[in-house]
Amino acid sequence: MILPKTNRLSDAQVNELTAIVSEFGCSIQPIIGAVRTIYAILGDERDKLMINRIEGLPYVDRVDRIQSPFKLMDRRSDLASHRISLGGVTLGEELFVIAGQCTIDPQNPHFFYETAAAVKEAGGQVIRGGVWKPRTNPYSFQGDHKSLDILMEASRRTGLPVDAEVMDEVHLKMALDAGVHMLQIGARNALNYSLLSSIGKAIAERDTVVLLKRSIHMGPIEEFIAAAEYIASFGNPNILLCPRGTKPGMDGYRNHPDESITPLLKEKSWAPVVVDPSHSVGRAAYVPACAMAAVAYGADGLCMEAHVEPIKGIGDDPKQALNPAALAQTISQAKALWNLTRGAIPATV
Ligand code: PEP
Ligand code: MN
Repeated sequence: MILPKTNRLSDAQVNELTAIVSEFGCSIQPIIGAVRTIYAILGDERDKLMINRIEGLPYVDRVDRIQSPFKLMDRRSDLASHRISLGGVTLGEELFVIAGQCTIDPQNPHFFYETAAAVKEAGGQVIRGGVWKPRTNPYSFQGDHKSLDILMEASRRTGLPVDAEVMDEVHLKMALDAGVHMLQIGARNALNYSLLSSIGKAIAERDTVVLLKRSIHMGPIEEFIAAAEYIASFGNPNILLCPRGTKPGMDGYRNHPDESITPLLKEKSWAPVVVDPSHSVGRAAYVPACAMAAVAYGADGLCMEAHVEPIKGIGDDPKQALNPAALAQTISQAKALWNLTRGAIPATV
């Protein structure tokens, strides 16, 4: 990773660097951070001669040789000062909340509009809504691209950004064309490296934020962070790591709750952690406790399923979604705990 002396290199300087690294079979990828742009060397960057030549250039401060499979997302990376903001919140400065329906019902858009209003009222910053759904049962409702219009209309009505899962390149293009602000990569696709790369390429020049769920099957923490690196390596490091429970599950819960990995993730990566308690425990009654545990473990945010009338929802909503009162109470308690544990004076304790 090349750290320049200035905030950004000129085209001529980037061309000079590119010419040097290409002699060693590598290429240069600019990564735009909050303070300055850094330049990743893609390929085998261990060649001492190449590093010496780069470090000899007058506009290069130093070459950082973090030996890590995720050198951009690594805590030691220069990007550690990068801040991600969405919905008026900068991650790390206050509790960040994504909430909304598991699945948008295209036959009943009014539920989604009412849910979106309830999320705003409860203090959420991003509205989630499943347009395309990864269903275990191939005969279950798979989502409907018409729901994309409903999602964007909810964004217009509330003024809040929206989050939707994309499962392939067709969804990706449709979501970006429609103006979806946050792309969710689900637990089933979290290790789909070609999809991760396609998303990375598609958002390289945008300020889109990605919510990357942890793979459904427990893997090493490094595997999770390296999946984020696949996206960041194309130039957009706006990635939130989302533990959402893993398999094998825990009796009584939908999955094995994994909010406890938050401190471990933070030890290795600077990326904000946004925990999804809904898919972890799988029942609305257990979601508030799991959300509080996540905040206690140091999570920067929560992603929760909510529905104005859960029983009339589809997908996971009848079981998992919080109703507006439960959502408002969970957000307010989670915010109080966040403030308490982050040293701010709590509103109510
Ligand atoms: C969802 O968010 O509705 C979803 C399907 O999540 P996951 O990928 O975590 O199962
Ligand atoms: Mn769901």
